[in-house]
Amino acid sequence: MKLARSIVIFATLPLVATLGGLLMIVFADETQWGYDGDQGPQRWSALAPEYLLCGEGKAQSPIDIRDAVDVDLVAIEFHYGETANKIFNNGHTIQVDVDPGSHIVYNGITYDLLQFHFHAPSEHTIDGEAAALEIHFVHKDRNSASLAVVGILLSEGDGENESYAAVFDHLPADVGDPAPLGEPIDLDTLLPEAQGYYTYQGSLTTPPCSEVVRWLLLDKPLELSTEQIAAFTAIYEANARPVQPLGERDLLRASP
Ligand SMILES: [Zn+2]
Repeated sequence: MKLARSIVIFATLPLVATLGGLLMIVFADETQWGYDGDQGPQRWSALAPEYLLCGEGKAQSPIDIRDAVDVDLVAIEFHYGETANKIFNNGHTIQVDVDPGSHIVYNGITYDLLQFHFHAPSEHTIDGEAAALEIHFVHKDRNSASLAVVGILLSEGDGENESYAAVFDHLPADVGDPAPLGEPIDLDTLLPEAQGYYTYQGSLTTPPCSEVVRWLLLDKPLELSTEQIAAFTAIYEANARPVQPLGERDLLRASP
């Protein structure tokens, strides 16, 4: 009898542990965070234990770009192709998930492009100045958990940016799942021609603020029309984390 009971307890323990794990995952997934008030950036680290780095990390992003050290650095090799426009509103930004195949090679490492998304105003600032929007192309190292994020500032210019029309004509106001919409996108056309860039080692700019990102911020902004910018800010007026201290990190600039 006693023996049987202890077997039952032993058999139940892993199940309890598994359920606990599942509950943790569900809980983490449902932790609400945002850009103002009680759920704003100053409070992220208090919202969930796994968001601790957002408050205590020493290599956080974004940063203010100033006093970058000019050095000879390798170019970012872009190998971008066509993708279905799988655009969606994830509750924090408008994101486009891309088809497999597009990637960059940087310092001999191949990083696959996963998705791109937008922030308003820009998260990185240059000498304290923010641009209207910032786009983040998020890439993952094929052989590790490291990410490389290519950031581009988007400022207001004359006329519609036709390369971005496929995206900005379909911005979904309502939160939903990725679904192919409209014409495919030629990802190559989303990039500027000049590719000088700033680089530093940093983090995700959203919870859990993991410090796994090689930032590659292109040094020339792209231009969008007033209407294109307004189409985004009508949905997300302010989804930018404030700049974080550079601390002991190197901030380098590579000119083309
Ligand atoms: Zn981002």
